[in-house]
Amino acid sequence: MSFRIGSGIDFHRLEAGRDLWIGGVKLPHEKGALGHSDADVLLHAICDALLGALALGDIGTHFPDTDNAFKDISSSILLTRTVDLIHQRGYRIVNIDSTLCLERPKVKPYIAAMQQAIAPICGINAADVSIKATTTEKMGFAGREEGLVAYATVLLQKQD
Ligand SMILES: [Zn+2]
Repeated sequence: MSFRIGSGIDFHRLEAGRDLWIGGVKLPHEKGALGHSDADVLLHAICDALLGALALGDIGTHFPDTDNAFKDISSSILLTRTVDLIHQRGYRIVNIDSTLCLERPKVKPYIAAMQQAIAPICGINAADVSIKATTTEKMGFAGREEGLVAYATVLLQKQD
């Protein structure tokens, strides 16, 4: 049995006038994440973890922000394409563990919806998608609500 592990991290600035997409769910908030795509920090960290597990580069390599095809694209599509790459190489996802780091809004009420959004794209159960959340106790850029961070770790198993 062959296993591979991958880790990913992503950051986005928070600015007024943008929607706030996290984990495939739109959260009501007065600021949103700035980026070329919908700037879904959690889905981007998961994409990078998946690519990292098979040493396939990073999300910027596969979906460059200089390409207009990816302008304002839903990151669910980027995750779908990334999972396709993993499957094409004969691997399946075992589980995902992730942590969001932001001061506001409180994400706990939305975690179940995020798990429900991510699991089917990844071909796993919601119980295999862990999403944790923390603040930085008001320290640093996340504490000042200038931006947010997501960390993700994935385990892949080779299909025989
Ligand atoms: Zn990103």
